[in-house]
Amino acid sequence: MTRAGSALANNYSPLPVEVASGNGAWVTDVEGRRYLDLLAAYSAVNFGHGHPALIAAAKAQLDRVTLVSRAFENDQLEPFAAELAALAGKEMVLPMNTGAEAVESGIKVARAWGYRVKGVEHDRATIVVASGNFHGRTTTIVSFSDDPSARDDFGPYTPGFRIVPYGSAEALEAAIDETTVAVLLEPIQGEAGIIVPPEDYLPAVRRLCDVHRVLFIADEIQSGLGRVGATFACDLVGVVPDLYLLGKALGGGIVPVSAVVGNRDVLGVLRPGEHGSTFGGNPLAAAVGRAVVRMLATGEPQERARELGAVLQRRLEALVGRGVTAVRVRGLWAGVDIDPAVGTARQVCERMMAEGVLAKDTHGQTVRFAPPIVIDEADLEHAIDVLERVLTTAAQPA
Ligand SMILES: *Cc1c(COP(=O)(O)O)cnc(C)c1O
Repeated sequence: MTRAGSALANNYSPLPVEVASGNGAWVTDVEGRRYLDLLAAYSAVNFGHGHPALIAAAKAQLDRVTLVSRAFENDQLEPFAAELAALAGKEMVLPMNTGAEAVESGIKVARAWGYRVKGVEHDRATIVVASGNFHGRTTTIVSFSDDPSARDDFGPYTPGFRIVPYGSAEALEAAIDETTVAVLLEPIQGEAGIIVPPEDYLPAVRRLCDVHRVLFIADEIQSGLGRVGATFACDLVGVVPDLYLLGKALGGGIVPVSAVVGNRDVLGVLRPGEHGSTFGGNPLAAAVGRAVVRMLATGEPQERARELGAVLQRRLEALVGRGVTAVRVRGLWAGVDIDPAVGTARQVCERMMAEGVLAKDTHGQTVRFAPPIVIDEADLEHAIDVLERVLTTAAQPA
């Protein structure tokens, strides 16, 4: 809840901690108290607060040029596109700013591809999406959300989307017809609580998309860029989508940078004037994005997320039956379902905050952990010690 009399719109209910500075996996509040950040801005701060290489890239570019718009070229954008495309094993990059814009852009590209390449009847394109999805907050995106708090009172809604149960290839196939241009999915659903689909789901989606000539669009805005112990969550099951939607960590926690990444036969459908953004692809964003890509190209963040993820998984699994009903872990990303007998996930987060650890609840009973990949192993262990203590003390009657 926003403070009484606040000038801030009331669309968030933050934990009552007022951060003044950050370094690595740690933040410090206005009174000098230190907290471990186990959310990392929903994966936008994958490389930690104030990462020296990223800050240096930003500072150097701040002194050169920050914005020229796409009316002119800038010397950072072509290299950024080439380097990001290479990281993703694709040919082309469409740069935008926020994640929601990448999703919107992917939808527009898929529709244009459907009409111009696949030959779908004009204005009839459909896109199949999954229950429990989170793709952002624009009016078109909330049109295909099934979360009432994201959607209610924001209609009328954009048509052209079909929602099928996440994890069911049969339901997906049944929803595909001659109007279908794309399947849009999170390979692991983040906001829904780190929901991992059955092992054979994404490979089946890939096969169905090939058979029916439909684009597979993977929203890797939260799951991508190192978080799961691989560059992309799709890598964990050996699947390559037609389009990656990237955001969050692509901006290194410094500036909003997002992108649609794909091959020329799909992204190449866009013509000058059909899509754009004043800030998309600006030199500051591109310079920071290049530094992020350089880091990921070494494979080190992915490796670290994999190694520390094993620690996270072992420690969290040991809590099942002790205040926790279930855990889902991929790399340094975990959904922890809190036993209602212990309290709500929000209450657990508040108690952890009091002990110097920041995490975020989602959907009532789930606590999400997404620490910066640079977190020290000892700090990670400490955070889980705190969770364990909170769960066991909370279990006692007040
Ligand atoms: C955060 C997120 C988005 C939206 O990104 P914004 O930058 O907040 O617009 C889209 N998809 C997924 C999977 C996300 O986690």
